[in-house]
Amino acid sequence: MSGTTLDDYTGRYAARVHGMAQSEIRALFSVANRPEVVSLAGGNPYTAALPFDDLEEMFSRLLHDSGPKSFMYCPGQGDPRLREAIADVLELTGIRASADDLVLTTGAQQGLDLLARTFLDPGDIVLAEGPTYVGALGVFQAAQADVRHLPMDAQGLIPAGLEEALRKLETQGREAKFLYTVPTYQNPAGVTLSEERRDEILTIAERYGLLVIEDDPYSMITFEDEPPKPLRARVERGVIYLGTVSKIFAAGLRLGWVLAPPAVRDKLLLAVEASILCPPALTQEATRRFLTEMEWQQQVKVFTTLYQERRDALLGALSDYMPQGTSWTRPEGGMFVWLDLPAGLDSKAMLPRALSERVAYVPGTGFYSDGDGAAHMRLNFSFPTSDEIREGVRRLGGVISDERRLRDAFTADTE
Ligand code: PMP
Repeated sequence: MSGTTLDDYTGRYAARVHGMAQSEIRALFSVANRPEVVSLAGGNPYTAALPFDDLEEMFSRLLHDSGPKSFMYCPGQGDPRLREAIADVLELTGIRASADDLVLTTGAQQGLDLLARTFLDPGDIVLAEGPTYVGALGVFQAAQADVRHLPMDAQGLIPAGLEEALRKLETQGREAKFLYTVPTYQNPAGVTLSEERRDEILTIAERYGLLVIEDDPYSMITFEDEPPKPLRARVERGVIYLGTVSKIFAAGLRLGWVLAPPAVRDKLLLAVEASILCPPALTQEATRRFLTEMEWQQQVKVFTTLYQERRDALLGALSDYMPQGTSWTRPEGGMFVWLDLPAGLDSKAMLPRALSERVAYVPGTGFYSDGDGAAHMRLNFSFPTSDEIREGVRRLGGVISDERRLRDAFTADTE
């Protein structure tokens, strides 16, 4: 729908709808998806790398063995056998979880929505990294929460920044409902909370009684031997953990999970039932078979090898084509690089020029609740090929250099 659609319903909407705006990413899609545009704007995993012959066999066995059941409703908490399989996957990351404490959702995105429904009243304060995941911002805005961003650097969230925010709230007699964090290979910044800081963040959270929501879709998409263990692997209390098959298998299946303490789990289950009755049975059975019958870890390796190659192509092209004054993160996993523009440039204002030069990115403002982020942009390396990435960065480098020249000419004129 375009932003100019006449709306006869304005007076009827719920108050929370007024805070809901189309994300910058959605608004971009129609142009960024044109074939002549190199899109570094997306966030799609490269599903063409899935083993479709093996999947054909797997789905055919699924239909043969459990067709009727997979086309039915199922228990609200989801198939216990799948929850067992997910608990085994979590154990590989160092998380010890009981299958009984897992709630299955239609993607981590629904997990976020259920948590917002469970914990947030209008005006509640949520702490989040700055920048943070755009889909989480959409959920928190719909819940009419007051999102406060916390500073990050190349080592992730800065513990002193968290502590300062908490202290300030305390002196105002206020409390944050929770900290929302993507500590590993963050979307959009591509940075990872260091080993040392993980413990510091948890210590601070414990001291202030702060609930932590850990969103972890990317830790298996790692280019390192071993990424730092999730926060939930370090403490069992005070951390609610979100996971998904979107990056290790298929985002189109819409299957994720929330690992929560029993009391919260029970509330989430009620929310699942109210929202969707039960998670999709077909998707669950496909995921269960993927995790128990297929070489899924091998498949994750296929994704990570490909993304690492593309990450290298992106970093190489950035060094070759970006003008002075530009800097960027060097992700050790995940799907995104965060770029800082030369001083005075604005990624949102620059976008029409970039699109006319046939390259797309997401302006940094999409990842903040408060209009910040114009000096940055997010670049994706999981979907475009290495050649496309190189060409896209070459075009982008030209656009940024031109903008910089214009800025220099303007400042010289006005001096
Ligand atoms: N959290 C983060 C940080 C993400 O990047 C994404 C997907 N882009 C999600 C949650 C949503 O994942 P899912 O596909 O499981 O809903």
